[in-house]
Amino acid sequence: MSELHPETRAVHLPQPPIEGSRPITMPIYQTSGFVFDDPEVMADAMGRPDGPFVYGRYTNPTVRSLELAVSGLEGGVAALATGSGMGAINTVLLGLLKPGDHLIAQKALYGGTAAMINELVGRFGIEVSYVPEDDPEALRAAVRPETRLVYLETIANPIAQVADLPGMCAVARELGLVSVVDNTFATPMLCRPLEHGADVVVHSTTKYLSGHTDVVGGIAVFAADELYKKAWHFAIELGASADPFAAWLTLRGIQTLALRMERHCANARLLATRLAEHPAVAAVHWPGLPSHPSYELAAKLLPDFGGVFSFDLVGGRAAGEKFMSSIRLALLAPSLGGVETLVLHPASTSHRALSAEEMARHGIGEGTVRIAVGIEHPEDLWADISQALTE
Ligand SMILES: *Cc1c(COP(=O)(O)O)cnc(C)c1O
Repeated sequence: MSELHPETRAVHLPQPPIEGSRPITMPIYQTSGFVFDDPEVMADAMGRPDGPFVYGRYTNPTVRSLELAVSGLEGGVAALATGSGMGAINTVLLGLLKPGDHLIAQKALYGGTAAMINELVGRFGIEVSYVPEDDPEALRAAVRPETRLVYLETIANPIAQVADLPGMCAVARELGLVSVVDNTFATPMLCRPLEHGADVVVHSTTKYLSGHTDVVGGIAVFAADELYKKAWHFAIELGASADPFAAWLTLRGIQTLALRMERHCANARLLATRLAEHPAVAAVHWPGLPSHPSYELAAKLLPDFGGVFSFDLVGGRAAGEKFMSSIRLALLAPSLGGVETLVLHPASTSHRALSAEEMARHGIGEGTVRIAVGIEHPEDLWADISQALTE
């Protein structure tokens, strides 16, 4: 090779073999594709998800490390990491549904998921029915011959309703329906939906799994090989695959997930309890409080109750807007699950397109504030919140 010209040598750079030791952390495999010595091995690898690495849109060693990690935490057989949570949700919905199919979803849904289901109904010939997240008999009654899929969220936004996963998934299983659970708010540290009978778990890894507000990503975890293979074939054509650097940041975040979730939940408990006693607050919607409609179910299903909740201010919209402009330490921002506490006034931001009636159906009032509690010292958060409430 020494007779090669400098132009060529600059292109074909040396790769030192790694022998006798190995990296402690998973390296970022920043390559779009992989080199083969044998054309037959290459051809074979392109046709299955468990062969040698081929091309970045299929997967990549760093991305696969994330897929193995989350699949392991959720108790699945395999996973597909994607470029966003919506990428994972769409990989599953589009990969498993076809025109003429009927899906049943819970009423309280993440906004992007609700919008996507409207697309499926409006343009893809798929029908939908909505049922409460904790009513297996309503689910049974909504099933039709064309029903294929049931879509749930372990903990919903922003009122934090908890789904009856064992009850709902049992009906789905009995009737041969695929059950899909968005476990973003709970994380596998609080709940593993596959253990309660779900077939697929989806996550926005943007939130708690990565945990540091610096990456957008998603993942779908499968309980059985057959569904995974079906979704994999579709996923590689859809092209919603995860980027290796995003996967690497997420892996790094997952290493502290358990510690962070403990703190998120403990901080939320303290703030929710104190807010519930505050004269400016009409109601607090955290499922760890006995006043929450999901309390009994949540206490059975979850070891702790998550870091996202909302509360209603006595003073309505004006009070909500004043609170948002008075808060200092908590940041006005969308998203959740990061180390920083974020607050949002749904009536003027995330849910502003809804009518008052639709908002009420989601349990959101003009004076509702959503808080995604971070891992700061809780007394600093309480000092900030209480000054914003009394200012
Ligand atoms: C954020 C979120 C999503 C969408 O995830 P992206 O990473 O923003 O695409 C889906 N479900 C829930 C519950 C979420 O919080």
